[in-house]
Amino acid sequence: MSELPPHLAPRVLALANQKGGVGKTTTAINLGTALAAIGERVLIMDLDPQGNASTGLGIEQRERRVSSYDVLVGDAPMSEALLPTAVPRLSLVASTMDLSGLELEIAGFKDRAFRLRNAIRAMSEPTGTSPFDYILIDCPPSLNLITINAMAAANAILVPLQCEFFALEGLSQLLKTVEQVRTTLNPQLTIHGVVLTMFDARNNLSNQVVEDVRQFLGAKVYETIIPRNVRVSEAPSYGKPALLYDLKCTGSQAYIRLASEIIQRERELRAA
Ligand code: ADP
Ligand code: MG
Repeated sequence: MSELPPHLAPRVLALANQKGGVGKTTTAINLGTALAAIGERVLIMDLDPQGNASTGLGIEQRERRVSSYDVLVGDAPMSEALLPTAVPRLSLVASTMDLSGLELEIAGFKDRAFRLRNAIRAMSEPTGTSPFDYILIDCPPSLNLITINAMAAANAILVPLQCEFFALEGLSQLLKTVEQVRTTLNPQLTIHGVVLTMFDARNNLSNQVVEDVRQFLGAKVYETIIPRNVRVSEAPSYGKPALLYDLKCTGSQAYIRLASEIIQRERELRAA
């Protein structure tokens, strides 16, 4: 399968952290929306069998006729799984519970780690250009074969870390997995950055966590910190990204800053 030259290929970023509840899905939805608002063509791939990104974008079960399961396990082309969202330039590949059976179903496939990479590449083949500038992959809270597929397909990993006492716990396991994928499946894989989420300025612990994480991970940590914000947590129950639900809230504004920071980092990477 041919590879597009870098300037025509989409940037594929996997949101990964095997801990649940750290803000992967919230970041996928709102960073995706913010990137689309800035003018990028964005695809969010829901790879969590829970389907929270799909629900949070207002896509109901009955609309998920062709899902990420069909792409990864069946041979459905991505083009058949693409769903438009309420956000211009933002598309979704939805997920369903079927995806939880992936591990067993594709265990015997030779290309089991490359199912997603191959599907993404095939999407660009008809025209020789990608229909997307960014593909954000919302990973499940586990380092299973689904996450391995995401890491094998990605250019870089974006790690959401919750500002809580155990923030760094489990991170070494994640970094070890990234390193293994780099040496075996995907030599170009990098850590794009670490985004601190659910920051609470009134809580001393939050400030301490930010300090510790910055000391430990240095420049890999984005400047932008996502605050804990009720509006952000309410938005999914309306099937809307926070940016559509309340553009002015501190959470939405932080995701817009994160999007510009990511685009800036991308420019620097491409210029390097
Ligand atoms: P993950 O995908 O890593 O499991 P989620 O994005 O689903 O994590 O977030 C876990 C919970 O925390 C959800 O209920 C979500 O609404 C809430 N949440 C995430 N980010 C914020 C935030 N910035 N402010 C308030 N609540 C948040
Ligand atoms: Mg999630």
